[in-house]
Amino acid sequence: MTGKTHAAFGILLGTAYALNTPHDIGTSAVIIGTTGVFSILPDICHSGSKVGKEFKLLSRLINFFFGHRTITHSLLFMAVIAVVMTLLNIELTYIICALIGISSHIVLDMMTPRGVALFFPIDMKVTMPVTFKTGGVLDMSLATTFSVLTAYLIYTEMFHRTLDWIHL
Ligand SMILES: [Zn+2]
Repeated sequence: MTGKTHAAFGILLGTAYALNTPHDIGTSAVIIGTTGVFSILPDICHSGSKVGKEFKLLSRLINFFFGHRTITHSLLFMAVIAVVMTLLNIELTYIICALIGISSHIVLDMMTPRGVALFFPIDMKVTMPVTFKTGGVLDMSLATTFSVLTAYLIYTEMFHRTLDWIHL
């Protein structure tokens, strides 16, 4: 799955989460941003990805020791992130964002033939019953669909807020 599709899905879920919990606009934006960033983070194990290019050395190290789509695409990784964020006293809302972002990434990668090592360190590839190629038509259309849905969510929210505001 391309980074674009991952980011689009993370942003969609982040938007849905932000709109379904009572937060001000600023916090909502941080929620959406955090979920979006964590939705592309697992691909740090792949040096050609956006995050991989950003953190080249770390990316090479992870790839060297674990390979692609192993530790950073696992339940173990989600647990480690949750523990580290808790130790850093990060608000629960953002820990939830991180977990939503990472799991959205893992779910999408499970739809590709390569699958993910969800139960790392157990060497077992997990895939969905139906899979499709990264960068193919379906991958691209998913990215578009997620973006359209996000725009729709924001649009309806603004519409309702405006109606409330003018007491209709
Ligand atoms: Zn991935």
